[in-house]
Amino acid sequence: MNLLENLKLSTKTVIMISVLLFIVFIIFIGFTTVSTGKVIHEGVIDELESMSKCNALQVQRFMDMTQSTAYSMNHYLQNQYKKEESEFVNQSNYISKIYDKPINETSFEIENYITETARNAVISSPDVLGVAVMFEPYKFDSNIEDYAFYCSESDRNDSIQPFGTYSHYSKEEYYAKAAKENEMVLTKPYQYHGATIVTAALPIRYNNDLKGVIMSDFNVSNLSRLESKNERYPSLYTTIIDQNGVMIYDSQVFENIGKELPQFYHKDTWNQISSKMKEGKMFSLKINDYDGQDKIEFFYPIKAGNSYWWSLIEVESKDINVKIDATIVGLIILFILALIVTVVIINAVLRKMLKPIQRVTEATTDITKGNFDFDIPISSKDEVGQLTSSFMDMAKNIEHAQYQLAIKNEQLEKTIETLKQADAEKRAKNTFISNISHEFRTPITLILSVIQLFQVNMGNCISKEKGNKYLNVMKQNCYRLLRMINNLIDISRVDAGYNHLDLKNVDVVKLSSDIVMSISQYALPKNINVQFTTDLEKMEVMIDPDKMERILLNLLSNSIKFTPNGGEVITNISRRDNSIIISVKDTGIGIPEDKKELIFDRFHQVDMTHTRMNEGSGIGLSLAKAFIKMLGGTITVHSNLGKGSEFIIELPFRVFDNEKYMQKSISMPEDSNKNKQRLDIEFSDIYYPLVN
Ligand code: ADP
Repeated sequence: MNLLENLKLSTKTVIMISVLLFIVFIIFIGFTTVSTGKVIHEGVIDELESMSKCNALQVQRFMDMTQSTAYSMNHYLQNQYKKEESEFVNQSNYISKIYDKPINETSFEIENYITETARNAVISSPDVLGVAVMFEPYKFDSNIEDYAFYCSESDRNDSIQPFGTYSHYSKEEYYAKAAKENEMVLTKPYQYHGATIVTAALPIRYNNDLKGVIMSDFNVSNLSRLESKNERYPSLYTTIIDQNGVMIYDSQVFENIGKELPQFYHKDTWNQISSKMKEGKMFSLKINDYDGQDKIEFFYPIKAGNSYWWSLIEVESKDINVKIDATIVGLIILFILALIVTVVIINAVLRKMLKPIQRVTEATTDITKGNFDFDIPISSKDEVGQLTSSFMDMAKNIEHAQYQLAIKNEQLEKTIETLKQADAEKRAKNTFISNISHEFRTPITLILSVIQLFQVNMGNCISKEKGNKYLNVMKQNCYRLLRMINNLIDISRVDAGYNHLDLKNVDVVKLSSDIVMSISQYALPKNINVQFTTDLEKMEVMIDPDKMERILLNLLSNSIKFTPNGGEVITNISRRDNSIIISVKDTGIGIPEDKKELIFDRFHQVDMTHTRMNEGSGIGLSLAKAFIKMLGGTITVHSNLGKGSEFIIELPFRVFDNEKYMQKSISMPEDSNKNKQRLDIEFSDIYYPLVN
C-alpha cells in the first residue's frame, strides 16, 4: 500500500484498472475456456462419430452391393417359382449355356437372368470378387443334377463355367451354414489368392423348400480405403469387426485381421461393449484398457444379413485435448494481447488526461519555492480543465499578493531601518552629549580650579614658577577643549561635505618621518621608544599633507595614550604595487576582537567607563577614517589584547604629472610655534605637563 502511495495518480489508476481488467479477463478466459473446451470437445466427438459413421456406411455400401445381387436374384427366383406353379411348364426345348444340356423355358430364363446378374455384379463393383449360385440336386432343372456356377471378374466376356458338384459345394461352410438359416449368413474372413475375403451366402427357399444358395465373395482388402489416418488425430485407429467380433480390417496391424477383438479388452470392458452392441445402435465410450492411455471409441453398426458388423474408430484423449489446449492457448494469448493493448491505451489516455494535474502538482512545488514562472495550457473544458484554469487564476492572485507583500515588507524594513538609525543616532547623540559633557567638564573644572587658586593666592605673591605651572594647566586644558572643538568642526564638515582636499605632490617619507620625530617629546614622560622605519628614501605622491598629518597625529597620540610606560611605537612606510602602506604599531593594551571594527565608529571608545586610562572623545579614529576615505585609501587594525595594536593605512600611489600642479615637497616646519601648538593641541589628552 505504501508503494502505491508513492506512485503518480495516473500510474495508480492504470494499475487499478489493469488489475480489474485482469480479473475480468481471467473470469472471461475461464468461462470461455470451459465453454470453448466443451464446444470443441463436442465438435471433435461429432467429427469422430461421423468418421466412424462414414467408415460404417462405406462398408455398408460394399455389403449392400454384395447382398443386393443375392437378394435381387432371390426375388426373381421367387417370382419364377410362383409363375412355374401356376403355369404349364414347357418341354425342355432350351439348352443350358453352362451345362449344355436341355432345360425348360423357365430354367432357361432363370439361367439367363442369374448369370447376367452375377456378371453385372462382378463387373460393376470391384468389391465383389465373385458371385456363385448353387442348387440342390435337380432343383434348378429336372434335367441337371448338380447345377452351380461361379462368375468372377475374369469371366466378364467369357462363358460362365460350372462350379463343381453338389457333393463338393454342399460341404462348404457358407453353403452348409446358409442351408440351415433363413437369412443371409457371412463367413469369417479368409485368405484367397492374396486377398482377404468374406463370403455372404443367402439361401433360396420357396415354400420352406431349400432350392439352393446364392453366394457372393466380398473383397475385404478393399476396406483399406476406409478413413484410417488423420493429421489432426495421429493416434486414430480404425477397425471393422464382423458379427462375431472377428476383425475384418485393421488400420495399423495387418496381422490382426482374423483375430478376435475381445482379446484386446478387459473382460468387463468387452461385456460393456457387447451389451451395447446388442442394441444395434451407434455408441461411444471412454476406455483405459490395455496400454494405460485414455481413449475414446466410437462404434457404428453395419447391417450384415441378420446380424451386425461394427465400424470402430478409436482416438487417444490427448489428441482431442491437444486441439482444445491449442485453442485455449490461442485464446489466452489473444486475451493477454488484448489486455496489454487495452492497458497501453488506457495508460496513454489517462496520462494525457491527467497531465494538467501533474503540471498543477509541479506548479505547487514551484509556488512554494516562490517561482511563478510557469504556464499550464488548458486543453479541455472538463473538470480537469476547470481545475487548471482555477489554479492558474489562484497562482496569479498569489503572485500578485506576494508581490504586494514584498513591497509592503520592503517599506516596513525601510521604516524599521530608519527607526533603528534614528534610534541609534538618538542613542549616539545621547552618548556623545554625555561624553562630550564629561570631556568638556574636566578641562573646564581644571581651568576653574586653577582660576580659584589664582584668586585665593592673589593676595600672596605667587612665584613665577607656580604662576607658569597654573597657566600651563589652563593652557593644556584649553588645548583639549580646542582639540575637541576642532574635531567636532571637522567631523561636521565631513558630514556636510564641506571638507575639501588640498592635493599636492608631497614626499610622504619625509612628511611622516618629520611628524614622528616631532611627537617623540610627548612619549618621553612615559619613556616610550618612538621609532620611524622605512626602506624608502623618498616617495613623492599626490596627497593632502594637512589631512595626512591629522591622520598620523591621531594614530600616534592614540598609540602613546594606550601604551604603558617603557613601551614602543614604530611607524613604518613602504610601497606595495600601486599602494603606499603606512603602519603605526605599538606595544600597548591592545583592542578586544569584538571592538576592532567599532573603534572607527564615531564616539566609540573601547572603555566607555569614566575610569578609563586616558581622556578622549572617540572622534579621532572616525575622523582619520573619513580623511583616509577622502584620499581613496583604507585603514585596518591588527591587535592582540594586552600585547599591542597595529594600524595599517593603505593609500593609492598617485602623482600629479602636470607641472602646473607640481609643488615643492613640503614638510613640517621645525619648531615653529604654530606647529608646536598644533601638536600640543593633538596631544593635549595626555596628562603630562609639557610646558617649560
Ligand atoms: P579617543 O579620542 O577616545 O582616543 P579615538 O577615535 O582616537 O578616540 O579612539 C577610539 C578608541 O579606540 C579609543 O578610546 C581607544 O579605546 C581605542 N584605541 C585607539 N587607538 C588605540 C591604540 N593604539 N591602542 C589601544 N586602543 C586604542
